[in-house]
Amino acid sequence: MSDFKNIFITGANRGIGIELVKESLSKNFSVIGTFRNKQKSEDLLNINTKQLKVFEMNVINETSIIRVSNNIKSSLDYLICNAGINNGFGNLFDNDHSHKKMLDVLNVNVIGCILTIKHLSKHLNANAKVILISSVLGAQEHNGSNATIYRASKAAVNNIMVSISEEFRDKKITVASFHPGWVRTDMGGSNATMSSKESAVALIKSFESLKFNNTGKFFNYDGTLMNF
Ligand code: NDP
Repeated sequence: MSDFKNIFITGANRGIGIELVKESLSKNFSVIGTFRNKQKSEDLLNINTKQLKVFEMNVINETSIIRVSNNIKSSLDYLICNAGINNGFGNLFDNDHSHKKMLDVLNVNVIGCILTIKHLSKHLNANAKVILISSVLGAQEHNGSNATIYRASKAAVNNIMVSISEEFRDKKITVASFHPGWVRTDMGGSNATMSSKESAVALIKSFESLKFNNTGKFFNYDGTLMNF
């Protein structure tokens, strides 16, 4: 396998995203990383290497995605939909589940993935891999009453992953979703069990090992198969 791969990562300015950038660079990949807010992206913008290109892109602003897509010159081996939000872990009656906040979660986590893949797919290489960062919280069988809309959004991510895998089956493009582990980021919180570096190292290794016969499947960060 050639070391010189091109990888596109959304939400690349912090959390798991920036560690995916760093791990990819350490493997000599050429990286395109997107951020949505310059003020929150100092760490990404301070990475100084020709192997990294950065673009401002909001996954729920179709115009910004199209603009980025039109500015990409290289073809992509990996497209990673990592950007996501969780407006809280509250239950049905919590403010986290106001109509507006629920629409935000579905918008970014689900529609954001669809729009990103829709507009960047023209750059995918033959045998490219499209990865959607999902969550174990999206599993249908669970006993939690919290994070209702976030769970639903990640269940939807796994569902659209299957549809998109079928869309690209003829082109032999692999599409899969991954749970990144419980990771110490702004979203995962300080009690989480993994550092973002540990998660990113394991994820990139698993993305590299992914084969076309894995298309349409949901995996843990270490490459083991997960139930939807
Ligand atoms: P963070 O909250 O640390 O980072 C989220 C990233 O998504 C930021 O870069 C953020 O940008 C970006 N983002 C949010 N909304 C948009 C948008 N509209 N357009 C573009 N970028 C956006 O989260 P994590 O790093 O922890 O999470 C990364 C992914 O992993 C998410 O999809 C999350 O659901 C998933 N996940 C995380 C787990 C964990 O334990 N941490 C567990 C399971 C899944 P900005 O800085 O501008 O806000």
